[in-house]
Amino acid sequence: MTLRTLDMLDVKGKAVFLRLDLNVPIENGIILDDTRITATLPTIQKLLDEGAKLVIASHLGRPKGTVDKKYSLEPVGAKLAELLQCEVILISDYEKEPVDQFLQRLGKGEIILLENLRFHKGEEANSSEFVESLAKGIDLYVNDAFGTAHRAHASTVGLPESLGKNKCAAGLLMAKELKALSSVREGARAPYAVVMGGSKVSDKMGVILALIEQCTDLLMGGAMAYSFLKYKGSRVGISRTEDDKMMLVETIYRNAEARRVRIHLPQDHLISKEFSATAPFKVTEGVDIEDGYMGLDIGPKTREAYAKIIRKAQTVLWNGPMGVFEWKNYAEGSMSIAHAMTECRGTTVVGGGDSVSAANMAGVASQLSHVSTGGGASLEFLEGIVLPGVRCLEE
Ligand code: AMP
Repeated sequence: MTLRTLDMLDVKGKAVFLRLDLNVPIENGIILDDTRITATLPTIQKLLDEGAKLVIASHLGRPKGTVDKKYSLEPVGAKLAELLQCEVILISDYEKEPVDQFLQRLGKGEIILLENLRFHKGEEANSSEFVESLAKGIDLYVNDAFGTAHRAHASTVGLPESLGKNKCAAGLLMAKELKALSSVREGARAPYAVVMGGSKVSDKMGVILALIEQCTDLLMGGAMAYSFLKYKGSRVGISRTEDDKMMLVETIYRNAEARRVRIHLPQDHLISKEFSATAPFKVTEGVDIEDGYMGLDIGPKTREAYAKIIRKAQTVLWNGPMGVFEWKNYAEGSMSIAHAMTECRGTTVVGGGDSVSAANMAGVASQLSHVSTGGGASLEFLEGIVLPGVRCLEE
């Protein structure tokens, strides 16, 4: 399968529906982090330079099919206008006021932004009526929203399918994501270290099993490491474990053994009696956690051991924080992974979600080979699943 890319479309004078992932954190109308917006600028600029008439669409949050001002794309429109130095026309209800009317009057230096796609039930349901309303006046389709490519929604699957493959292409960001993640999925060089963290083993079971097929070392952290430690017979105190999912851990060990993958578990921890940002905490001597305490981050010996493996690897993939990194007291484990990755001479990829925030917090994102903008999408891609939004963009 080959990806259809932007250079395959002649966009001059054409109305192009551009699906972006502008799902940025907003509080009281203020954008807290505009990374996702700036990441889409090269595609927007290229299409504008080539004379396209742009209709930009995105979701924001989870308004579940109803209009909720809190999730309006209005602040995003203002930011786009500022960054692109152009007029952004926000269309609130394109089911009632079809886009083709606006397209006829669209002047130079103006772009259309559709209000939050998820204000309409038809988006997530991929209803044919909603697809029809999105298709009004549209000639071509470009998808640059890698973060939602694992969802078969109206704007990611319904619309491109209705237009036909020869009218669709991947944007620059989508192509970059797929190239970087494919190079890890298909061509990772050994030693290949996968750093897995986050809350639950059960959430990431599929991707862990898929990665075991390729990696040489699996470095476990975050809450999920405590289920592994418990399975191995260590004392974990009141750490978060998934006691009913021990057979998943057993399956991981069995597969890892068959593939000769080394599983590394924390050797020490930062522990506290409370799940709190400010409660007192201490470092354990060794792997065991005393009764009444919970593990909230990997300890200094583990940080050093993991950094050593990462530095020597030819490929490193990181997904999920090593501790409750949102709280300063428990951020060090994740920061040490981020910094060790900058000292690795091989390919270094952060696979989306909270680890991206951690890499940004450490200020190292620009020193890594690739930092994915898609959380769930990057995990599903690495698991080997064909993403429905990507399938529509392949020949
Ligand atoms: P995930 O979405 O599965 O990648 O999980 C990320 C979340 O796991 C973050 O919000 C972390 O605060 C949380 N987390 C990481 N380590 C721990 C831990 N030891 N105990 C509880 N929560 C944790």
